[in-house]
Amino acid sequence: MRRTLTALVTSTVIAALGIVGPPAADATKPPHHPPPTPSRTPTATGHGGAVSSVDPDATAIGLEVLRRGGNAVDAAVATAAALGVTEPYSAGIGGGGYLVHYDAATGRVHTIDGRETAPAGIRPDAFIDPATGEPYPFTPELVTSGVSVGVPGTAATWQTALDRWGSLSLAQALRPAARLAEKGFVVDDTFALQTRENAERFRTFTSSSDLFLADGVPAAGSRFRNPDLARTYRKLGAKGIGWLYRGRLGAEVAHTVQQPPLSGATDLPVPPGSMTVQDLATYEALVQAPTSTGYRGYDVYGMAPSSSGGTTVGEALNILEQTDPAGTVPTLHHYLEASALAFADRGRYVGDPAFEDVPVDALLDDTFAKERACALDPDAAAAKPVPAGDVAAYDGVCADPAAPGEEAADTEGLSTTHLTTADRWGNVVAYTLTIEQTGGSGMVVPGRGFLLNNELTDFSAVYDPADPNRIEPGKRPRSSMSPTIVLRHGRPVLAVGSPGGSTIITTVLQVLVNRLDLGLSLPDAVAAPRASQRNTVDVTAEQAFIDAYGAALAPYGHPFAVAGPPGSSAAEIGAVAAIELGRHGRLTAVAEPTRRGGGAAGVVRPRLGP
Ligand code: GLU
Repeated sequence: MRRTLTALVTSTVIAALGIVGPPAADATKPPHHPPPTPSRTPTATGHGGAVSSVDPDATAIGLEVLRRGGNAVDAAVATAAALGVTEPYSAGIGGGGYLVHYDAATGRVHTIDGRETAPAGIRPDAFIDPATGEPYPFTPELVTSGVSVGVPGTAATWQTALDRWGSLSLAQALRPAARLAEKGFVVDDTFALQTRENAERFRTFTSSSDLFLADGVPAAGSRFRNPDLARTYRKLGAKGIGWLYRGRLGAEVAHTVQQPPLSGATDLPVPPGSMTVQDLATYEALVQAPTSTGYRGYDVYGMAPSSSGGTTVGEALNILEQTDPAGTVPTLHHYLEASALAFADRGRYVGDPAFEDVPVDALLDDTFAKERACALDPDAAAAKPVPAGDVAAYDGVCADPAAPGEEAADTEGLSTTHLTTADRWGNVVAYTLTIEQTGGSGMVVPGRGFLLNNELTDFSAVYDPADPNRIEPGKRPRSSMSPTIVLRHGRPVLAVGSPGGSTIITTVLQVLVNRLDLGLSLPDAVAAPRASQRNTVDVTAEQAFIDAYGAALAPYGHPFAVAGPPGSSAAEIGAVAAIELGRHGRLTAVAEPTRRGGGAAGVVRPRLGP
């Protein structure tokens, strides 16, 4: 999100952080002078801690937490809460996400699965319109509903992360974001555009039109305040997350899902959901082991299922490892082909491991990758979709080519947000969070200032008992979110993630290939034009990628399709936020230079001079 920072916002951050009070020695002292506000500079180099996100206010809040003695987890929660203010259509306590943490004290990587769950009362035909017997059209009809809302996991993720690895209380971590919500932020073109694009959905609900359309679509340059969210953050901090999962706020969430606050202003069908307070009471954010993949001397850690991010990025890397590093164009060909093969297996095998026997070990096995790489012709693109491999019987030996696979439907949104933090002690966080579509379900919980997600539409739209991602009560829908931390010799060297629905996986993979294989600097690896092969006939690509590589890749036979209309947000693939950790504590925080209006990278102690 692009926004002009003002002195008011800066003072908001400072005032709020004056009372953050983390336990480090310098945390109790008021700052002598205003902390430097990160500009929209996409790259920042220095020491002492770093934050990268899509938003300058959020990055400023995260950096100030670090400056005042907080660690990477404290900064991640504070930054995420701020994104709930400035990017309310992408993230917030009405949604879920996945957090990967490198713990410098133990040298271990842990993850938190804060994915939303389906309520106990959901039925296999939840997405079928009883009036027609046909599935609801996906958008705006299905996504704008109670039936699409999963039990939110973000507040539980924050509390779990702070309990395990943080030094701030939840109240302290939420305080700067509460102040930001109260004082407001300056609306930019992206926020105005996203509001306009969602106007019909927001008008459908009294609560949402009151919050986002009170005076029409907020104009770029105006100030947007959300006092309801400020109160919600303060109360959540004071009462704890039990207020959401076992208390009054939870009852209001369930009520909103079951009886959406319809305004009568539109004809959208808004099928209600079945979520109850019991569904909220049984929700748990899960601390779980990461996926781990060795890649050309690096160890790549990611999210295990219920996200497909870790297994798909990891399998693609393992397949790539079967190829020799080559020049840019052959490497891009290998990247596209390895991605298609990994996506075939993602579709066939990955779902919520609490419900499905997900063959994570096989998917990340080098022998399996060797066999999958048999289908990677170094000179020609395979016909797509390629079939899935057989995780039950593989020996690394090439067999006769199998029959083509089937192209999978893909309705994942292109919203979401990602942030990366690192602190002076060497802890690192990569955290991706979402409410699914831009604007989620379109429903604001009345008087509480936040949108509910539509994450359940990440289940397969058509129910198939053999599909690992079919709708089931209590289940987490399969995600593509891919927060990733890369280690070398046990030390973190790179942390990266992105929004973008299923293109998240290819965006993270392409940045890794650009950096680790092609040797681009991290800023160049992030800025480079993107293409995404998700086992579809056409390769989705940014126009700039086609301009740069279309002719050179033509002999391989890759058919390209432009990602979206020029100038639209769909024309861009992903929005990366990353940090590289160099020798002697040197940090390079990197955000997008132009995509989504450009992100904000900052370090605690910027390096002086060139
Ligand atoms: N719901 C998607 C997922 O979990 C993310 C949506 C997006 O990136 O916009 O993978």
